[in-house]
Amino acid sequence: QTDITDILTQLGIQDTNPAYSTGLNWGGENNAETRTIHSPTNGKTIATVNMASEADYEQVVTTAQQAFLEWRTWPSPKRGEVVRQIGLKLREYKEPLGKLVSYEMGKILQEGLGEVQEMIDICDFAVGLSRQLHGYTMHSERPTHRMYEQYHPLGVVGVISAFNFPVAVWSWNAMLATICGDVVVWKPSEKTPLTAVACQHIIKEVLEQNQVPEGVFNIIIGDAIVGSKMAHDERLPLISATGSTRMGKKVGEAVGRRLGRSLLELGGNNAIIITPNADLEMAIRAVVFGAVGTCGQRCTSTRRLIIHDSIYDEVKERLLKVYPNLPIGDPLKDGILVGPLIDKDATTAFLDALEKVQQEGGNLLIGGSVLEGEEYATGTYVTPAIVEAEHHYHTVQEETFAPILYLIKYTGDVNNAIDIQNGVRQGLSSSIFSSNLLETEAFLSHWGSDCGIANVNIGTSGAEIGGAFGGEKDTGGGRESGSDAWRFYMRRQTNTINFGRELPLAQGIKFDL
Ligand code: NAD
Repeated sequence: QTDITDILTQLGIQDTNPAYSTGLNWGGENNAETRTIHSPTNGKTIATVNMASEADYEQVVTTAQQAFLEWRTWPSPKRGEVVRQIGLKLREYKEPLGKLVSYEMGKILQEGLGEVQEMIDICDFAVGLSRQLHGYTMHSERPTHRMYEQYHPLGVVGVISAFNFPVAVWSWNAMLATICGDVVVWKPSEKTPLTAVACQHIIKEVLEQNQVPEGVFNIIIGDAIVGSKMAHDERLPLISATGSTRMGKKVGEAVGRRLGRSLLELGGNNAIIITPNADLEMAIRAVVFGAVGTCGQRCTSTRRLIIHDSIYDEVKERLLKVYPNLPIGDPLKDGILVGPLIDKDATTAFLDALEKVQQEGGNLLIGGSVLEGEEYATGTYVTPAIVEAEHHYHTVQEETFAPILYLIKYTGDVNNAIDIQNGVRQGLSSSIFSSNLLETEAFLSHWGSDCGIANVNIGTSGAEIGGAFGGEKDTGGGRESGSDAWRFYMRRQTNTINFGRELPLAQGIKFDL
C-alpha cells in the first residue's frame, strides 16, 4: 500500500495547502475555499488544498511583475545555471516525485518516473540553449549599415496545465521561459495540485542558494476561474494553455481579444495507419502502448487504428489476444500496465462514448466494463475497449479521454488511409507502420499527415523533448519543448545600425532638406 505521508516526507513537504507560492514564500488567505484531493488509485484523501482568492492572485502577479524587472537583467547563461541546478535536484527527487505523480494522477510508476525524466531532459536542453538564443544577421542594402535581430525577454508567462501530465508540461514551458528571462505563473490542474506544490518545494533551495528574486517561479492553486482570470490579464503577455479544445477556444479568444500571445496545446484524435507492408509484431506493441498507456489519458494516445482490409482480421485477432491479459490495477504495483481513470466523471464519459458509438453502429469487441471489488473500489478502473467503427461516426470524430480504440478499415492505396487519418478536426499525433518507402514518404509528404507529429514505425505517444511538440487544427497550433520553440517565449527585435557619416534611406528614397 502506498503511504502518502512517506512520499511527502521524502519530498520534504509539511504544508500541503498553500494557495500560492512565489518560489521563496508560500501564502494564501485563511478563509479561502478548499478542495480535497483523492487518489484515483485507492480513493484515499491526499490533501486538502486552499484555492487562491482574488487577493492571492493579485499578490502573485504583482510579485512576478516585480521579479521580472530584475530577472531580465541576469545574463542568460546565469539563468541557465539555475536551471542546471534544478535539473540536479529533480534527479535527486525523481523517485518520490514520480511516485507522487503516479499516486495523484493514476499513471503507472514507470510513466510517473518517465514524466520526471522528461523534466530533467528539458532542464538539460534549456541549459545549452541559454548560451544561444540566437537571431539572424542580415546584409543591409545601404552602405556602412548592418542589420541583425535579437530576442528579448517577454515578461510574465502564464502556464495553465492539464491533469494528465501534471508536472512535465510546466517544466517544458517554465525551463524555456526561465532561460529566456521570463518569469512564470503556473496554474496547475485543480485535479493534481499537490505535484505542483512538490515541484515548488524541490526548487526552493536552488532559488535560495542562487539568490533568485522572489516571484520568478510562481504557482497559484485554482480552477477554471483563475485560469480565465489569467487569460484576460493584460499583465501576462503570453499564456501557454494545455487542456481540452473547449478550454483552448475560450483561452485563445480571451487572449486574442487583448492581442496577447497564446500557445495552445489541446486535444488530439490520433491515428496509426497499418499497411499491408507493416511489421505487425512491432505495430501491435506500439498500438497497445498507445491505446492503453496512461489508461488512454495522453493527448497523444492512439484512438483510431486505420487498417488495410487485407490484414484487418489478423490485426484484430492479435489485439484480441493481448487485451484480455492486460494487467489492470494499482499503478504503483510492479507489473501493472493499466491504472485507473482520473475520476468517476471520466468513467462516465468512457461508458457514455461506448454506448453512443454502439448506437451509431459500432461493434464493441472487448472491454468497456468498470471493474468491481475491493481493489477497484474507486470506480475508476475500467477494461480498455476495442470497437469496430466507421470513420464518420460522431463518437469517432471526438476525443474521449479514455482507453477506447476504434478499428477502421481502409481499402486501396495508402492515400485513402491518409484521407481518413486527416478527416478529423484535431491534428496532434499520427503514425504509419510500413516498410515500404513509397507509403511512408507519401505519409510524410505535403499531402500526407496534417498533424504536428508524424511518425514512421513507432506509435503516436511518447515524444522526446528535443523536437517541437504540438499540433494543428483543433489541437491549437502551439509548439513547446524542443527545436526552436523557445522563440515564442521572447520578443523579437530587428536592429539596423549605421556606422557611416551619411544617412541613406532604404529603397533609395530621396528626402533632401
Ligand atoms: P481541461 O481543459 O479540463 O483543463 C485543463 C486546464 O485548463 C486546467 O488547469 C483547468 O483548470 C483549466 N481551464 C479549464 N477551463 C478553463 C477556462 N475556461 N479558462 C482558463 N482555464 C481553464 O483538460 P484536462 O481534463 O485537465 O486535460 C485533458 C485534455 O488536455 C485532453 O483534451 C488532452 O488531449 C489535453 N492535453 C493536451 C496536451 C497537448 O500537449 N496537446 C497535453 C496534455 C493534455
